[in-house]
Amino acid sequence: MTPRTPLSALAATLLAAAALAACAPAGAAPREPADPPAQERWGLVIHGGAGTIRREQVPPERQAEYHAALREALLAGWRVLEAGGTSLDAVEAAVNLMEDNPLFNAGKGAVITADGRIELDAAVMDGATLRAGAVAGLRHVKNPIDLARAVMERSPHVMMIGDGAEAFAREQGIELVPAEYFFTDARRRAWVRAREQERARRDSVRGGAAALDDERKFGTVGAVALDRHGNLAAGTSTGGMMMKRYGRVGDVPIIGAGTYANNRSCAVSATGHGEFFIRNTVAHSVCALVEYGRLPLQAAADSIVMRQLVAQGGDGGIIAMDRQGNWTLTFNSAGMYRGRIGADGRPETAIFRD
Ligand code: ASP
Repeated sequence: MTPRTPLSALAATLLAAAALAACAPAGAAPREPADPPAQERWGLVIHGGAGTIRREQVPPERQAEYHAALREALLAGWRVLEAGGTSLDAVEAAVNLMEDNPLFNAGKGAVITADGRIELDAAVMDGATLRAGAVAGLRHVKNPIDLARAVMERSPHVMMIGDGAEAFAREQGIELVPAEYFFTDARRRAWVRAREQERARRDSVRGGAAALDDERKFGTVGAVALDRHGNLAAGTSTGGMMMKRYGRVGDVPIIGAGTYANNRSCAVSATGHGEFFIRNTVAHSVCALVEYGRLPLQAAADSIVMRQLVAQGGDGGIIAMDRQGNWTLTFNSAGMYRGRIGADGRPETAIFRD
């Protein structure tokens, strides 16, 4: 008997969307109709990680620190855009601040691997040219997103990893720091707890993968922007998942999984359980639904994050912007550190689902 191939949720949505578009009168494609003047549509959306973030677990002072950090990052990106700078520069400026802030799992304050190291991943993509740069397994680059951008702009490659990537960083004059710089007391304490839990569980029926699941800590950072010139960009930076092993690399530096930008559709930065985001090529799938499926941005994000990922048990979220200035912060977890700023320069930030 010939096995029947199940239609993936993405393919099914694309087919449904194509049918919808075919029925629409000429010139009435189902895109968002609102088209404000170009100079008002620009803006920036950021995230600082999604996961099991519940109000009762985050003390009010800590919540205030997150809001302040998100606001600062939004304003850094906004200043670039306001001055007529590029979406790439805005994304880099916002991500740099979050990489430097120990609250987030990126740069300083990143999570610790099973063997007590910190290994950083990042990616950036330019929606105007489809150029992209990605780095993985870094141990000394202070701002991994800067190196991802250097890979994109100053090398013929898209992705570099480990020692080779750091040799390139040295050649390019990108700042390197001692490994110790990235460690914080809070992450060390969390790592000790996680190790103890892992040890206690080792002989239980649940395997290593399940243990990693329970111990993962989110806090990846990312930004997407639309500039005054109508160009989109996306960038993401992370320490990955706590207690990761064997040189594990997540979705963040996989172009199309955790990071993607294309002026023909949208810019996306993701956060969540990376293995699911890789298997579902989440960032590119959302853009494909916008470009080929002609879905509005929110419908595309919902289709992938709220249906496809949820059906598989993959938690996390995305931020995205399209060329019309539509934006979304879509997540299926309890919370996502997130924020958004438009031309009016008023930052809005949030943490929990409500
Ligand atoms: N997506 C990241 C990874 O799997 C983790 C995160 O977003 O917090 O490496």
